[in-house]
Amino acid sequence: MKKIFVLIILLPGWFTGWAQASSRGIIIKNISIIDVQNARIIPNCTIFIKGDRIAKIEYSKSKKITNADTVIDGTGKFILPGFWDMHMHICWKEDMSKLFPVLLKYGITGIRDMGGSAVVLNKFKQQLKNDPQSGPMIFGAGPILDGEKPVHADFSAPLTSGNVRKVLDSLYKEKVDFFKVYSLLPKNIVDSIAGYVKEKKMSFAGHVSEYITPEEAAELGQKSFEHLNRLEDLQTDTGRLSAFIKTAKSMHSWLCPTLVIYQRKSEIARREFFEPAIYKDLDTDLKNEWDLVKKNRQNRIYTEKDSLRTQTRFDDQKKLTRYFYDHGIPFLTGSDFAGMQFIYPGYSLHEEMALLQNIGIPPFDILKIATLNPALFFGLTKNYGSIKKGKMADLVILNENPVADIRNTQRIAMVIKAGKIVPRDSSTQTF
Ligand SMILES: [Zn+2]
Repeated sequence: MKKIFVLIILLPGWFTGWAQASSRGIIIKNISIIDVQNARIIPNCTIFIKGDRIAKIEYSKSKKITNADTVIDGTGKFILPGFWDMHMHICWKEDMSKLFPVLLKYGITGIRDMGGSAVVLNKFKQQLKNDPQSGPMIFGAGPILDGEKPVHADFSAPLTSGNVRKVLDSLYKEKVDFFKVYSLLPKNIVDSIAGYVKEKKMSFAGHVSEYITPEEAAELGQKSFEHLNRLEDLQTDTGRLSAFIKTAKSMHSWLCPTLVIYQRKSEIARREFFEPAIYKDLDTDLKNEWDLVKKNRQNRIYTEKDSLRTQTRFDDQKKLTRYFYDHGIPFLTGSDFAGMQFIYPGYSLHEEMALLQNIGIPPFDILKIATLNPALFFGLTKNYGSIKKGKMADLVILNENPVADIRNTQRIAMVIKAGKIVPRDSSTQTF
């Protein structure tokens, strides 16, 4: 009886192993590897992919290659690890999974969902566990943790001193990856969340609540600071800025500035609406929301002064971001798709990278921020974040050198997710 049981368990694994062994994999020859960790380009490499991993790398021009299912000529091309969008909202509606192929086509092989539904998050995770090639890897928070009267009632868990432990326990049971804290949490609740994550070896990330200071949030160990909300309060006070930076660095906090949302805000204020072809295929809920914003904006009367104020604010936000970069706070790249209107899935992460270049961050650093930093953030460097033997084959091949100009991240030749080439179609070229 025992023997039969073992056989049944082993059969599927044995069968997959056999199927993989029969595949001769993918070989990419004569390609330049972007080594984001050491800020160098290694030319003329040959990368062997077997199953979902990098099996071998030869750091020399390839000789004759015959033993592969697919041979890709990488001459003149550049390869780097897949990008991560570290601030998205897609886990709030099941049919958002239709965006998985779109994200992959833009080279996004990992995402952090910053608030939605734990049920949807777990559904997506299950799908990706069964079929890792069908979409980017997802880490998520489930519902946003906010005060008794939350900003976003639909996607939040309102917390009070009476229910905080119960809500956190239930999310912990649902296996959310971290907690997302929001703007209206009272100080004592943020304290409770900080205590809870310590106890359970979890983390919390998000906004700085209106009821605490950024310094206090850093002191409590907030793992990442999203956007520049509240941090802008520090802009004119170098004493507070240094205190915040010192604490944040000692607590190993990260900053995900999402500059692209501020760019979009200033554009919208000037009544410039960014509507690429994908706009017409957008999810109905989002489209209604965005159309409403557009209508309201168009009906408002703007003065020259309003427009100048918007521009000045965006300039200040860019300066502040640069200040944090110069003072050594580690960065993450995020787009805030579905958190901000006219932010597009996949594409807007490339806009964020371009904005970081715009404020003077060197392209090598931006590439590191968008690929290796997420792996460091989630403790995944064993399998992700660089191109090395044994690591997962989540890769992006570019037609032009992104170190020369970060906007070349948009010139994607091919994306490989978990060892499989992502099919491309015309929809990627719509921007
Ligand atoms: Zn957000």
